[in-house]
Amino acid sequence: MIVSNGPQCKLCRREGAKLMLKGNRCYLDKCAMERRDYAPGQHGAVQRRKKSSSGFAEQLREKQKIKRMYGLREQQFRNTFKKAVRMPGVTGENFLRILELRLDNIVFRMGFAPSRNAARQLVKHGHFLVNGKKVDIPSFQLRAGDVVSIKERSRKVEVVHAALSNQGRGVSIDWIQVDKVKLSGTVAAVPTRDQIPTPVNELLVVELYSK
Ligand code: SF4
Repeated sequence: MIVSNGPQCKLCRREGAKLMLKGNRCYLDKCAMERRDYAPGQHGAVQRRKKSSSGFAEQLREKQKIKRMYGLREQQFRNTFKKAVRMPGVTGENFLRILELRLDNIVFRMGFAPSRNAARQLVKHGHFLVNGKKVDIPSFQLRAGDVVSIKERSRKVEVVHAALSNQGRGVSIDWIQVDKVKLSGTVAAVPTRDQIPTPVNELLVVELYSK
């Protein structure tokens, strides 16, 4: 029997990729993408088999995938891309690096929240400190050496403990160090592209905005 996993899972199936939107379920075989890797709807399976999109459609799909994965609104996506263009280096890599170094993403990567969405809520509610100071802005950009910790009185937050007990199911990230006892983590380095385990082709987004 196929289990319905809700609207988030439909987004994954639409994009044909695991967007990791549902927390621990994403690591289990209950994940809808493990069960049926085709678009939702009556004709989804046929569409996926026929699908050989390219060019503009493919670029748009990749943009949509990144937006959904990192939980960005359109304006946030555009602003982040503009910032990446202004930075020295390769635009696509800059873009992904900015997304990875957002505080909500780092909280998720450190295993302090089961999903980026949950991480964003926890950050907004003021549960995290950066270098000892409260930061409640999900898009806050971290730098190499920054230490993220959970506020003393937030340490009993159930969702954090549940996330930590399930930690380790994901890909290990060598540029992030986590101390599960102290409930803190350090951004040990700014990641290179091959250290970012996000299965997207950011070049398609660069092509899309170069038109
Ligand atoms: Fe659902 Fe997570 Fe699997 Fe996506 S990765 S289909 S959100 S369980």
